[in-house]
Amino acid sequence: MTAMGTDLGREATGDQRAVRFYPPAYDIRVETVSMPVIVDPDDAVIKVTLAGLCGSDLHAYRGHEEVDVVRTCGHEFIGEVVALGSSFNPNASERPLLYSTLKIGDRVVSPFTVSCGECHFCRLGFSSRCVFSALFGTPDLPGGQAQFVRVPKAGGTLFKVENITSVLHSGLSDSSLLLLADILPTGVFAALQALQHPKITSLLCGKQYPHHGFVPRYVQLETTPNLSFDDRNFTFAVVGLGPVGICALVSLLDMLGDVPAINYRVVAIDPVASRREKVKSVLAVLTPIATPPRAVVADIEEGKQLVKDWTDDVGCNAVLEVVGNNSALLLAYEIVRPFGVISSVGVHQAPPVPFTGRDVYKKNVSFDFGRCPVRAMLPIAAALLLKRQDVFGGVGEPASLIDRIASFNDAVAIYEVFDKGGCGKILFDPWKN
Ligand SMILES: [Zn+2]
Ligand SMILES: [Zn+2]
Repeated sequence: MTAMGTDLGREATGDQRAVRFYPPAYDIRVETVSMPVIVDPDDAVIKVTLAGLCGSDLHAYRGHEEVDVVRTCGHEFIGEVVALGSSFNPNASERPLLYSTLKIGDRVVSPFTVSCGECHFCRLGFSSRCVFSALFGTPDLPGGQAQFVRVPKAGGTLFKVENITSVLHSGLSDSSLLLLADILPTGVFAALQALQHPKITSLLCGKQYPHHGFVPRYVQLETTPNLSFDDRNFTFAVVGLGPVGICALVSLLDMLGDVPAINYRVVAIDPVASRREKVKSVLAVLTPIATPPRAVVADIEEGKQLVKDWTDDVGCNAVLEVVGNNSALLLAYEIVRPFGVISSVGVHQAPPVPFTGRDVYKKNVSFDFGRCPVRAMLPIAAALLLKRQDVFGGVGEPASLIDRIASFNDAVAIYEVFDKGGCGKILFDPWKN
């Protein structure tokens, strides 16, 4: 352990406050627990300045994960480095950059899972399936709803705030950085995985499928027809308008805005009225006034009808599914068109997916599922965070994603209200009384 680590030894003699989950369900307690310490040379210990409460925290809270172990909650946090293992030194130049550059006192964002930056999956950008992957807030890895947290493989996992602000410092709000831990990269991923799908990319670029394939002799065929402007009418849906759904919608609109010479419309669907109201406020800030409007908010039945009306009953080119249950997946299947794409980032649980092989055959539908590779999405998400401070920067305003910043003293009540859909995104300041 380095001298830096020795500093931790002094701090580590103390206790800290943390939000803890007790199985089987609905039992949150704020307790005093021991401080985390460096257990591996690649570890860092972070003093948490803000921690997020996320929809996926509710899976454990509701007892859906059937794990019989008390754990420290939370997988979203930002903070300040207070201790580093011995791997962090100027000679570590062969390893991910932070092993030779991260210092005590640096401000960092942590993705919600560990990613080493060195394994096959990390090197390819598929960082959510790192061979060392571990999810914060599980029995294996104490979470970030605490005053301090240990981050394994920290040189690959963490992201320095300085890397965002040194490039473009433009009134970036501190609380908005927390969105980089999970929900904004996940929204970016939902949109990117749809728009970069080979079935969609060709058409967005004005070429008949499969123009943007990988076989050079096909890609270079000059005979590939250009699509007419009429064929470049796109319809997208976002299913689920919680905070991640809003991030997906904002990301989608931002990316589509960069595609030249297309016409596109987006329907944003959620059965909950308060969520639809929030999205209307976001859209009022976000989209230039267009006729007809680029994005429309709808409940389920309205959404289905709009897709029919807009597309002559053909369906959406792509659906972003941001809920994580079978009714959302079924809706996505229902409204997607043949050769369409369903990009699913919802955290699905044990039930089998609600389709037969014949169903998916009949539509030539493509599904992309799974956890966001946050570390790979972070540069894009950080740029979007800076660009859209009007949505991501505020707290408690009609168009803000973050409802409020609370103390751990209110954690028990906040989990109850959040579980019932009574509030939006809440952050905890672990140092607030
Ligand atoms: Zn989350
Ligand atoms: Zn890895």
